[in-house]
Amino acid sequence: MQKSKFKMKTVRLVGNELKIQDFNFNNMCCNSKGALIKVIGCGLCGSDISKIKNVSQASNSFLGHEVVGEIVELNSDINNFKVGDIVVAAHHVPCFKCIYCKHKNYSMCEEFKKSNIIPGGFSEFVYLTANHLKNTVFIKPQNLSVIEASFMEPLACCIRAIKRARLLKNDKTLVVGLGSIGYLMSQALVSYDMSVIGVDLICERVDNLKKININGLVFENNDITSNKIRQLTDGYGVDCVFMTSGARSAIDFALKSVRNGGKIVVFSSINDKDLGYANNEIYYRELEIMGSYSPSPNDLKESLRLLEQKNVVIDFPVEEYKLFDINKAVSDTINNKIMKAFIKI
Ligand SMILES: [Zn+2]
Ligand SMILES: [Zn+2]
Repeated sequence: MQKSKFKMKTVRLVGNELKIQDFNFNNMCCNSKGALIKVIGCGLCGSDISKIKNVSQASNSFLGHEVVGEIVELNSDINNFKVGDIVVAAHHVPCFKCIYCKHKNYSMCEEFKKSNIIPGGFSEFVYLTANHLKNTVFIKPQNLSVIEASFMEPLACCIRAIKRARLLKNDKTLVVGLGSIGYLMSQALVSYDMSVIGVDLICERVDNLKKININGLVFENNDITSNKIRQLTDGYGVDCVFMTSGARSAIDFALKSVRNGGKIVVFSSINDKDLGYANNEIYYRELEIMGSYSPSPNDLKESLRLLEQKNVVIDFPVEEYKLFDINKAVSDTINNKIMKAFIKI
């Protein structure tokens, strides 16, 4: 491993702005098992954006976890990897032993929350521990571009949400919000034999979905659009709603569109803390409301398989930005100018 200390550029959240800073790579790489990765690029995730908006929780942190890069140094007992391999990596590794892990709540595991790519994906180099190599790092499949492979982690989040919902084959599902996550979620649901309706305010996003033969509706208002959904579901409403975007109106819309006894999967954060689901609707209609946050190593593996087999395709525009343009990538994402930003290092 790297014997010398070296300096490189990374991105740190300072206030609500991302700043490019020098980072000293100490001897952490040579002291413990792991791999040094020269980063090729890293996707900008909705969760990075939430942290930027909600600075109090994440100030001074390093962001970026949808990493693709080349192994430049390796100190590992695992034979899967060699120097020169292009790999795709995610950030959190569960312990597989605690009360959370035993109940498959991997993303609640203390180890999971503590573990991270060092320093963060928006860096010239990152360090991945032996635990990462064992669980969250995979060789980039030949038939995937670097950008396609970088969707392993976001798609794995969708896969986890679908698993959490415990659906039956051919269940009718509604995806609220058709940004990159909603688009991936819709395709993943189809690949698991679910019937899907996607809804968004933005026509182009609905058209994207229709282009791949998935039912899409432009949101008009709660009554009109939920009535259309009921017409498409024999009057019942959908079996499950996936909320990839959160707002008061989106929650009302989900409650109006889900059938009695159905499920709502909460899949995005909301800044307004007073928002909530109505107690009596949940009670009288026997609704199940559940959250789904971050994927397990198995979800990552499954995700890469769906991408490699082209069950899920990245055929929407992904905008590339240089590291020093990362704040523009953030504002373009927040302003819905783009569907997804990829930071090229
Ligand atoms: Zn992500
Ligand atoms: Zn655990």
